Amino acid sequence: MTHQPALSALVAKDPRIAELVEDEARRQHDKIRLIASENYVSQAVLEATGTVLTNKYSEGYAGRRYYEGQQFVDPIETLAIERAKAVFGTEHANVQPYSGSPANLAAYLAFARPGDTVLGMALPDGGHLTHGWGVSATGKWFNPVRYGVREETGRVDFDQVRDLALEHRPKLIFCGGTAIPRTIDFPKFAEIAREVDAVLVADIAHIAGLVAGGAHPSPVGHAPVITTTTHKTLRGPRGAMILSDAEHAKAVDKAVFPGLQGGPHNHTTAAIAVALGEAQQPSFAEYAHAVVANAKALAAALIERGYDLVSGGTDNHLLLIDLTGKAVAGKPAAQALDRAGIELNHNTVPFDPRKPFDPSGIRLGTSAITTRGLRPEHQPQVAAWIDRTVTAAATQSEGALDMIADEIREFLTPFPIPGYSA
Ligand SMILES: *Cc1c(COP(=O)(O)O)cnc(C)c1O
Repeated sequence: MTHQPALSALVAKDPRIAELVEDEARRQHDKIRLIASENYVSQAVLEATGTVLTNKYSEGYAGRRYYEGQQFVDPIETLAIERAKAVFGTEHANVQPYSGSPANLAAYLAFARPGDTVLGMALPDGGHLTHGWGVSATGKWFNPVRYGVREETGRVDFDQVRDLALEHRPKLIFCGGTAIPRTIDFPKFAEIAREVDAVLVADIAHIAGLVAGGAHPSPVGHAPVITTTTHKTLRGPRGAMILSDAEHAKAVDKAVFPGLQGGPHNHTTAAIAVALGEAQQPSFAEYAHAVVANAKALAAALIERGYDLVSGGTDNHLLLIDLTGKAVAGKPAAQALDRAGIELNHNTVPFDPRKPFDPSGIRLGTSAITTRGLRPEHQPQVAAWIDRTVTAAATQSEGALDMIADEIREFLTPFPIPGYSA
């Protein structure tokens, strides 16, 4: 049982780190991974991240670099850009942001000044830290105004978005988020942004793979600036991109470099290019639709077992369970599930009566299990394990958790993962 590619030099030179990496590979193999922001990258993406490209400095952009020796890095970055533009249908792509948070910071740097007003979704309602939450630099250096969801529906309150936009005249409006189980209505956000002359930034970090595969509407044509991570549903390496129309291209590039970053991570750029190449294949559209089908099947199975889902279900890869009516809160439930072989995270739910570090919800996503080959017919079984574990956690039946973990390990045997040979 080993990591793939094999870690022969690492085992010889640093056995302790090698052992921990091997342990992590086995852990990723043995668990039902339902963290909504995670996935399994392909063997090809994994290989690209582990190349000598990590040795190279390439500040600047293709053809305009500050260091020599870019004969092979330039075409790699250009390919990544061309593929990003083709996959998403945008006029411009910047593939250099180190991750989703720096990509969003670049959007602020490009289109706002410190102290300017920005409108984003509140964190407890599903927004991201970088959409102006108080503990984030974006909330400290800018003047954040926040919209949320309606209590009755769990969906974005567009009357509130419009009222806040008209009252505060933000420079930037962020749409998208990190715990939103429903389709993002880009045209509606665009209409409001137009009305107040704000730049609409669509942060599609979570749903980029669904957009690429045609399983979620595209923000292109509605949001002139689109930020995304590359490692969630898009199934690439950890990284990010900013996609834009031609008008906003120059400001985006200047903000990423030299505004915010130094040299791009070329090994990551190559892996992003590989992942985008995969996203161009018809099989990726099948994958994106299978992710949504699995999420809908899991949602139905959980509802049947009496679970309360925020917004009553899902349109995408993500489910938010409100455990308020259960005898166990989000954090102890997530901890028990991890022990039972089901990995997810505790999460606030909208209008959460509990504190953020000990909230009422758990968040689930189906991107990783879909990559592994699980299908809708497997979801009632997954829901049954979740239910048994939550019940066991409420009654502190520790023994039950180990039994479930054994059953899950056995169940997963026919579903291989890239990066590990069992
Ligand atoms: C994950 C996420 C980010 C941040 O990405 P990191 O790579 O973790 O910095 C930004 N926005 C949204 C909506 C996200 O879900």
